Amino acid sequence: MNVVAHFDEIFLKGGNQRFFVNQLKKNIEHLFPKSHTLRLESGIWIENIQEEDLSRLALIPGIANFSPAFKAELDFEKIVARVESENWGDDFKSFRITANRSDKTFPMDSVEIERELGSRVNIKFGWKVKLKNPDLEIHLNIGTKEVIVYGNLIKGAGGLPVGTAEKVMCLLSGGIDSPVAAYKMMVRGAEVELIHFQNQTHVTEEVSKKIMDLAKVLTKYHGPITLHIVPFEPWQKQIIMKVPSDYRMLLSRRLMFKISQNVAHKVGALAMATGDSLGQVASQTIQNLAAVYQSVDLLKLTPLIAENKTDIMNLARRLGTLEISERPYEDCCSLLVSNHPQTKSKIEDVLKIEEKIDLSQLDKTEIISYHIGM
Ligand code: ATP
Ligand code: MG
Repeated sequence: MNVVAHFDEIFLKGGNQRFFVNQLKKNIEHLFPKSHTLRLESGIWIENIQEEDLSRLALIPGIANFSPAFKAELDFEKIVARVESENWGDDFKSFRITANRSDKTFPMDSVEIERELGSRVNIKFGWKVKLKNPDLEIHLNIGTKEVIVYGNLIKGAGGLPVGTAEKVMCLLSGGIDSPVAAYKMMVRGAEVELIHFQNQTHVTEEVSKKIMDLAKVLTKYHGPITLHIVPFEPWQKQIIMKVPSDYRMLLSRRLMFKISQNVAHKVGALAMATGDSLGQVASQTIQNLAAVYQSVDLLKLTPLIAENKTDIMNLARRLGTLEISERPYEDCCSLLVSNHPQTKSKIEDVLKIEEKIDLSQLDKTEIISYHIGM
């Protein structure tokens, strides 16, 4: 089928328009290899989308809304015939026609078209005209060459197409939040790379399979993704030896940030992002976030900081990451998890404890980078 997709007008101001639209067209053709896109006056025309692709299309960054659509010739009787022959579905009781004319040479004005076509549709299908909140809204966009016709709009992800903002290094754990955080950055246009700190004392195979699977799902919305895996065991050993148990989680997160910043610099990422959500777990009190976030200068982004867990889980379910995130596994060494973690850490104390850790090898940390295709 064919689809008409719209973007939020606000992003279409001035010279950015062409860049934005071209990036979105490129992304769609890349993510749906059989599709072909064309620029319309009012959006993008996407040819050859499969019905089963529609739920994924609703999650592609940069599309505000869309609908399966068809074209008709610039002739009123031909428009009527085409609308009448369409299978609109049968659970409608009311409808309206909404016509827009960008070509004012069409012999009827919008109101005439709406009224005339409305009465023909009423006779053909038996639905009642209802201008406010109809079950079905049939849109007619009358252009210079053809008429685009479509029914109810499906809400899209909105935001900006991936690749219109800079590169962001997203810290991916095996949990529910961080894949959603990475997705949220994509919806703001960021190109995303992923970094995962892997505890190698536990079932490496399963852990990396889980992380790979999460990255793979994200490619459905982003396109191919680079995933950096950092064997974290040597660092964890040091932490366990040198850090009191209630500070281990904090110190290990500071190390993750430092290593992430190094990798970000190497690949040209201008920011890093985490799945932190204020107050969700002990490591996410304001004091602890402050103590961790102070560890590096790189810009830190926290798209989920004020989100509720249920909303995060609902989005994770739609994305297809939730069931992977819920697979059991130990994402970090159990010795790092204290029964009484510090919730009100002070930066002075954290810095003092960190002095005991030998950071001289930080730049030499092993990083294994994978290219994850779609
Ligand atoms: P998540 O569900 O994303 O794991 P969480 O609520 O379990 O989040 P934490 O485990 O404290 O919270 O992690 C907070 C954030 O720190 C994660 O969202 C992720 O961005 C980052 N993070 C934690 N552990 C790792 C890891 N092993 N590798 C990479 N990033 C991590
Ligand atoms: Mg976690």
